[in-house]
Amino acid sequence: MPGGVSSPVRAFSPHPSYISNAKGCRITDVDGNEYIDYCMGFGPLILGHADPDVVQAVKEQADRGMLYGAPISMELELASLIKGSFPSIEMLRMVNTGTEATMHAIRLARGFTGRKRFIKVEGAFHGAHDSVLVKAGSGATTHSAPNSLGIPEEVTSNTLLVPFNDLDSVERVVRENRGEIAALITEPVIGNAGPILPDEGYLASLREISEENDILFILDEVITGFRLAMGGAQERFGVEADMTILGKVAGGGLPIGIFGGREDIMSLVSPSGKVYQAGTFSGNPMTLTAGLTTLRKLGSLGHEDLERKGERMRSTLQGEVEAMGLPYRVQGIGSMFQLFLTSEEVRDYQGAMGCDTGLFHKLFLGMLDRGVYLPPSQFETDFISTAHTDKDIDMTVEAYADILEEIA
Ligand code: PMP
Repeated sequence: MPGGVSSPVRAFSPHPSYISNAKGCRITDVDGNEYIDYCMGFGPLILGHADPDVVQAVKEQADRGMLYGAPISMELELASLIKGSFPSIEMLRMVNTGTEATMHAIRLARGFTGRKRFIKVEGAFHGAHDSVLVKAGSGATTHSAPNSLGIPEEVTSNTLLVPFNDLDSVERVVRENRGEIAALITEPVIGNAGPILPDEGYLASLREISEENDILFILDEVITGFRLAMGGAQERFGVEADMTILGKVAGGGLPIGIFGGREDIMSLVSPSGKVYQAGTFSGNPMTLTAGLTTLRKLGSLGHEDLERKGERMRSTLQGEVEAMGLPYRVQGIGSMFQLFLTSEEVRDYQGAMGCDTGLFHKLFLGMLDRGVYLPPSQFETDFISTAHTDKDIDMTVEAYADILEEIA
């Protein structure tokens, strides 16, 4: 296996950790070392690992069959739950990954508008398909391939890049490509270059510019959906997208992707329309059971405690860093955070690139030694789950302070 992994974001030197089991906020590797986990499967596990209700539901569903290749009523239940949480989603299609969902959403936007080009924000990651692997964040940036080899120029020439939080660039690109742009896609909070927050009014302005130019506004809420609120970033920032991408939390730990939005657009998806999409495992009963159980439980627990713990982590860690006289910045929102090893506030991809990645690697390995498993890259987001306790958070901050004392 290249790099010894099934996805590059799991790789780190000298070698990736192989995990044997996990429960709550803790994972255990094959050598029996236990860690407080902030990778949390890169985001889906908002209730922690092996939540008893989710596990029970999945076991019961396995007994009833794992795949039918025919519609099931749980699809309707999940669709209604999503529609109740995201008013902008009038119709949706379930797929298996976020990659698939953005790929199909972009095809659909092109099919609907009859235009080829789309705007993408630098450092945002929308999965690993051809047209979005341009200045892509996450593992692509970590492993020095933000622009992957093997992608024809003809494909990426239709991907127009703008920096995050820069409306002037969007206006310029729209002006220079008038009548040619099908969609503008972004993560509402960039989760794939560490968490980078949108400036006040930025998302609303993107929506406005899109609307004025008949460009479809696509929000990739694969990370933020159900995490920042049941209605994701759209609820949190009071903005509506023409199309929304969901994934991660919506599948409760099993593979999922969803694209949905305005009915006039979504009606164009096969078989009701002429934009093709298909998938053997789409809307499968195992994922739907895990997703529905997770979302219902999350809905009844609410996000308050997740918010509070996120705030506790960010403020105590920032306080500790400042007390040590270090210039680093803790950023995040809700249950998302990252310690950026830079003295500047990170507002875009370029800013994230200013972080000391060599030092981050030392920090990451030092945290492992101290029993904390972070996502292995400066350009990822750390996730807090309902299973993390205040004590876990305080122990984590102590570990950060201890390793920073040694290396910074
Ligand atoms: N969009 C965003 C915002 C993501 O963070 C990711 C994955 N980290 C994807 C899309 C791709 O999702 P998947 O890994 O399920 O293909």
